[in-house]
Order: sequence, then structure tokens, then C-alpha cells
Amino acid sequence: MKIDLITLFPEMCEAVLGESVIGRARKSEAIDVRCHQLRDFALDKHRRVDDTVYGGGMGMLMKCEPIALCFEHICEERGCKPYFIYMSPQGKTLDQQKLKELSGHDCVCVLAGHYEGVDQRVIDSMIDEEISIGDYVLTGGELPALVFIDALARMAPGTLSNDECFTEESHFNGLLEYPQYTKPQVWRGMEVPPVLYSGDHAKVDRWRYEQSLINTALKRPDMFAEKDLPEADRELVKQLLSQKQL
Ligand code: SAM
Repeated sequence: MKIDLITLFPEMCEAVLGESVIGRARKSEAIDVRCHQLRDFALDKHRRVDDTVYGGGMGMLMKCEPIALCFEHICEERGCKPYFIYMSPQGKTLDQQKLKELSGHDCVCVLAGHYEGVDQRVIDSMIDEEISIGDYVLTGGELPALVFIDALARMAPGTLSNDECFTEESHFNGLLEYPQYTKPQVWRGMEVPPVLYSGDHAKVDRWRYEQSLINTALKRPDMFAEKDLPEADRELVKQLLSQKQL
């Protein structure tokens, strides 16, 4: 998967994207992530990429031409036209479903906005999709872009050791993950559920599935209600929850 990021703060982004799982995946070439300094595509000697807003009002807006030139440079460098995403509080809220859908693109370009955002003509003529990371406004698009790239890149083949690493996790199948434990077996009087060290894999799988259902029903009743489940499983959750309350 090829991911390009257009930003005013490439060093900040490189610092994050060079570490841990994503950093290792870049080194092993499982993913190819490149950060581009938008100012390199400014047209004047002051490298200005923003200007005042027509109609008046506070703040500055990112200009069209540097963004267009940067995107064209990326298309040429990559030899493909990436799916172009603008991180914006006005976009569709990011979730695992959206990530699954977007992970089907081999080439993705992400634009991190700043100031008041970007000229509407860029959005209308170049952007394929606006993506938000939640209903709140940040000062810039770098943190949203990093959240998005991290979540997208971890789904690329080769980033994690195997697909189960993300298919088993919360949200992938519309459920939250089951509780997990590590050594020691007893910590401050609290014991790991015995089934997990019973060695019976079928029982462990069943326990995990049930706990995943309970976790979702308790923490995210909205998700639980929407999940397509056999009636028997819904009944089971009701029973287990009533036992828990006793
Ligand atoms: N004036 C814009 C509005 O009201 O919709 C907000 C601009 S915001 C201060 C500056 C930049 O931060 C945006 O261009 C966008 O790239 C990024 N940003 C802020 N909040 C975001 C969010 N919740 N999701 C994604 N990007 C966000």
C-alpha cells in the first residue's frame, strides 16, 4: 500500500510514522509512506501556502495551487492517481468499516489542513472523500492524518504478523474484543479465568466469543443492537448478564 501525506509539518509526522509497528512496516517495505512538505510547492519566495478569506472573517485559508501542484507531483512520482482524502471535521466519521473499505485502495493520498481549512475549490475538484476523526475541531489535520494512516496501514498485508491481529480485535466484526490477561496467573488476589489455562482451545474460543458478546452489550449497547446475531446468542447474553448481576 502506498500512502502519501501532504502536510505543513512533515518532521512531526515522520517522527510518529518512523516508530513502532508502522516504522517497522515501512522499513520492511510492507507499506510505503511518504510525507510531503506543502511549502515546497508554494509559488512565491516566502513559500506562502495560505491567504485571507473572501467575504472577510478571522483566519487564513490554504491556497489551491500549492495543493494541486503537490498532488500532481505525487501522481507523477507514484505513477498512479491516488484516492485523495482530506482530513476534515466535516467528513464522514472514521470507523473500522470505512477503513476496511479504504484498505482496498493501493494508492492513497491524505491532505492535512491547517488554519481555517482549504479553499472549497480544492475539495470540489480534487478530493475524493472527506474524513473526520470525530465531532470536535483540532488546530490542524496532522493528528487526524496520523490516526487515519496508522489505522489504515495496520490493515495492509505484512504490517502485522498475520491478519488475525486485526480481525480478532474490537470493531472488525461489529463486536468489542474479549478481556485478556498475562502473567502472573494470580495478581494481588485476582486470578486469571481458569478456562484460559485449561489447554482446551475450543472452550477458550467459546469463552472469548461469549465475553466479546457481553463486553459489547455492556459497553456499546448501540453496537450490540445492530450486530446480526443468532437469537440463541442474544438469549445467552441476557442469561449471562443476569447471572453477573446476581
Ligand atoms: N474551519 C474548519 C471547519 O469549521 O470545518 C475547521 C478547520 S480546523 C481548525 C483546521 C484543520 O484541522 C482542518 O482543515 C482539518 O484538516 C483538521 N481537522 C480539525 N478537526 C478535525 C477532525 N475532527 N477530523 C479531521 N480533521 C480535522
